[in-house]
Amino acid sequence: MSDTIYDVVIIGSGLGGLQCGAILSRHGYKVCVLEKNSKFGGTLQGFNSHGCRFGTGMHYIGSLDKGQVIDKIFRYLGIREKLHMQRMDPKGFDVFGIGGKEYSYPIGMEAFREQLHSYFPNETVAISKYLQEMEQTTGEVDLYNLRPLKNIMPGNSRSLNTGVFKLLRSLTPNQELQNVLGALNFEYAGEKDKTPFYTHALINKHFIDSAWKFVDGSEQLTNLLVGKIREAGGKIIQKEKVTEILHKDNLLTGVKTAGGQMYRAKHIISNIHPALTVGMLDKSLLRPSYRKRMLHLESTISAFSLHLSLKENSFRYRNHNYHFYERPDVWYTSYYSEENWPEFFYLFVPKVSTSDEYAACVSIHTYMKFEEVARWQDLPLKRRGEEYETWKAAKAEKLLDLVTQQFPELKGNVTGINISTPLTFRDYIGTPDGGIYGTMKDYHHQLESYVGTKTRIPNLYFTGQNVNLHGALGVSMSSLLTCGEFIGLNKLIREVNEA
Ligand SMILES: Cc1cc2nc3c(=O)[nH]c(=O)nc-3n(C[C@H](O)[C@H](O)[C@H](O)COP(=O)(O)OP(=O)(O)OC[C@H]3O[C@@H](n4cnc5c(N)ncnc54)[C@H](O)[C@@H]3O)c2cc1C
Repeated sequence: MSDTIYDVVIIGSGLGGLQCGAILSRHGYKVCVLEKNSKFGGTLQGFNSHGCRFGTGMHYIGSLDKGQVIDKIFRYLGIREKLHMQRMDPKGFDVFGIGGKEYSYPIGMEAFREQLHSYFPNETVAISKYLQEMEQTTGEVDLYNLRPLKNIMPGNSRSLNTGVFKLLRSLTPNQELQNVLGALNFEYAGEKDKTPFYTHALINKHFIDSAWKFVDGSEQLTNLLVGKIREAGGKIIQKEKVTEILHKDNLLTGVKTAGGQMYRAKHIISNIHPALTVGMLDKSLLRPSYRKRMLHLESTISAFSLHLSLKENSFRYRNHNYHFYERPDVWYTSYYSEENWPEFFYLFVPKVSTSDEYAACVSIHTYMKFEEVARWQDLPLKRRGEEYETWKAAKAEKLLDLVTQQFPELKGNVTGINISTPLTFRDYIGTPDGGIYGTMKDYHHQLESYVGTKTRIPNLYFTGQNVNLHGALGVSMSSLLTCGEFIGLNKLIREVNEA
C-alpha cells in the first residue's frame, strides 16, 4: 500500500466523478479518481465500429446558450470555450412522429408556445397552464437557477409528488396535446405512473431553452475534465475497479481494487450506483433499513441500440433528433411488451466536423427490459454464445425494419451494424441492470426513491445521475451538491455565478 493519503477518492469517472474531481482538485484537495474501464467517462465514452465513431450515451446537451445553467457550470469548470458543439435547429431540435403525424419542439419558450398554438389553436388555456407549471417548477429549484440554497430538498414537493402524466391529463382532455407535451420522454425514460413532473419540467425546459450537439463526440467532455483534474494536480487512473470500501470504526479509510491495490482516503465519493456502493461496505456501517432501500432501488428501463455505418452520401445530415411513436401514445415504456416490440425508436445523427451535408453514421435507440437478456447475464462479455448472437441479430432486424419504414433511404445503404443490449449497458456503465438513466424516481414514493449526497457515514458521499436527476443537467447539479459538502454550497454557487 502506498503511503499517500488522498483527501478524496472518487469511485467512477462518469461525468459526475470527473466534475467533482475537477472542482475539488481546483480547490486544493488531493484527489484520486478510479475507473474500472479502460476508458474514462462512463456514458460519455465513444467507440469505433465499421469506420464510424459512436457515442454510448450522451448525445445532446441543453442550456448551453450564454448565461444558461450548463453554460455557466461549464465556464466555471474552464471547459466551455474548448467544447466543440453545434446549436441544434432552432425551428425543431427534436422532431416527433406520433401515430402518423409530425410535430417539433423549437428552441425558446416563446417559440415553443407559438408552435404549440399552431398545432392546437383551440388549446390556448391548456398550453398557458402547462408553460406556467414548467416555469413555476423550474423556477423553484434553487440549484437549477444557481441561487443560494434555502432547502436541500430538490424543488418543491408538489412537483415531486405529482406525476407528469397525471398533470398533463389534468390540463386538457385533448389526448393529442397530452402526447405532444409528453413526447420528449425518452430523455428521462418516462413512466406513466411513476415519473414526477419535476423530472419532466427540468429536462424539457433545459432543452427548450437551447439544445446543442457535440461535434465529433461527447468524449471531448471527458478529455477536457480529465485535463482539468491533472492540471490541478489530481490523479485519475483507469482499469482500477473498486471492489471494497475499507473502514475503521465508523469512518471510511480507503478502497481496495480488483488488482489488490489500496488507496487510502479521508473522504470517498461514489459516482456509481448506490446498490453497488452499499454492496462494498461493511454491513455494520449503515442502518439495515437504509441499506435495504439502497440495494432495492428501482432502475430506469434499459435500451437496445443500433449504431449504423452508412454508404457515402446516402443519408442527409439532420440537425435534430427524431422520435418515432407508432401508436398515438408516447408513454411507450408503460405498455411495451415483447410481442409488440419495437413501437418506438429515437434516432440520433452524430455531427462530425468533416461533413455538413451527409451523415455516415447514425445511432438508434429503443427501450428494452433487462428481463429479456437475463438468461445470458452470467456469461462473459463478448463470449455470450450463439444463441445470444442470433437473438440479438433478430431483434436488430426487427428494429431496423421499423426504422427503414420511416427512413426508406437507409434501405440498402447500411454497411455495418453495431448492436448494444441491456447487458452492454450494464457492463460498460456498471449499472446493476443496464438502466439508462440510473435509478427510477417515483412520485408515489418520492422519499424512498431519493438518493441524497450524504449518508450516515460521515465521510461517504454520492454523486452522479442517481442523486436527484440524470443527464448533463442532473449530474452537473449533483456535482455542485456533492462538492458543496466540502467547499460550502452557497460559496460554490457564488463562484459559478462569478466565473
Ligand atoms: C443511451 C443513452 C443516451 C443518453 N443521452 C443523453 C443525452 O442526450 N443528454 C444527456 O444530458 N444525457 C443523456 N444520457 C444520460 C447521461 O449520459 C448520464 O445521466 C450521465 O452521463 C451519467 O453520469 P454519471 O456521473 O452518473 O456516471 P456514469 O456515466 O454512470 O459513469 C459511472 C462510471 O463508474 C464506473 N464504475 C462503475 N463501477 C465501478 C467500480 N466498481 N470501480 C470503478 N469504477 C466503476 C463506470 O465504468 C463508469 O465509467 C444518456 C444515457 C444513455 C445511456
